[in-house]
Amino acid sequence: MAASRRLVLVTGAASGIGRALAMAAAAEGEDLLLLDKDGPELERLSNALSQYDSDVTCCELDITDRAQVEAAMRPIKRLDVAYLNAGIFAGGNMLGEHGQIDTLDPDVWHRVIDVNLHGFFNTLQVSTSIMKSAGTGSIVVTASTSGMRAEPLASYPYVASKAAVIALVRQAALELAGFGVRINAFAPGPVRTNISGSNGMDPTKQATWDNTIPIGRFAEPDELVPLARLLAAPESSYITGSIMVADGGAGSLTQVPASALPSADIGSRFR
Ligand code: NAD
Repeated sequence: MAASRRLVLVTGAASGIGRALAMAAAAEGEDLLLLDKDGPELERLSNALSQYDSDVTCCELDITDRAQVEAAMRPIKRLDVAYLNAGIFAGGNMLGEHGQIDTLDPDVWHRVIDVNLHGFFNTLQVSTSIMKSAGTGSIVVTASTSGMRAEPLASYPYVASKAAVIALVRQAALELAGFGVRINAFAPGPVRTNISGSNGMDPTKQATWDNTIPIGRFAEPDELVPLARLLAAPESSYITGSIMVADGGAGSLTQVPASALPSADIGSRFR
């Protein structure tokens, strides 16, 4: 790897937002360390990246496995940018079956928290230790607007995991500021990716989501790239501990009418 070029880590690189971040970094001539549990998609990405002047290392791993994360990242002596992006969106929401707090499957709760919080923590801890030793680096985390407010269209573990991720970003920013390391998050609203399965979202669900977005559609993964790269850029030297939203205006709307929320048939609420 050329010493003068930036080394950029992307977790969850094989699809969606992570893939868009990897493509953009390679197009700028940055070297890449790409982590994902989906080996075949990682290989497809690696082939697509061969058009660029970028050294690419791919590791098929599960970020919840600490030993695998250590083995992939410990050999690195310097890490300029870490896009900590891998995540899942499972669990059903409170408007559907098995998504209410009393019906939620505890296994689903643990699975989502395991990937989105514990897996994130694994990659955060190893990234920060490399960056603190080097006295430089920028961490950019893919959070979600679902971690910033109640979101009836997302599952309990998803909103809880993303809220925890946001708290960790703010907390770590305090510590890392004294070590030359910045950490920020961007919080997308809905983005058209494979996160709801490779067949996309069920059309009724899709329409419900679309209705919550003033721009009237999901973001494309590429539309998150400028914000993520802004946060990663050395020129953004005064930005740390920030959570930056890209949600097509959804934060300005009430998400779902209260009448659509689940309730017992008691005639009216809190009478
Ligand atoms: P995606 O499913 O297209 O991509 C996620 C990638 O992460 C996949 O390649 C998957 O294999 C990988 N991954 C999942 N679990 C992993 C694990 N345990 N170990 C290693 N890799 C793993 O989804 P996406 O929408 O691009 O999601 C990226 C991030 O964006 C997630 O953190 C998600 O929560 C966040 N996000 C997505 C949306 C959305 O609407 N798509 C909105 C807000 C935030």
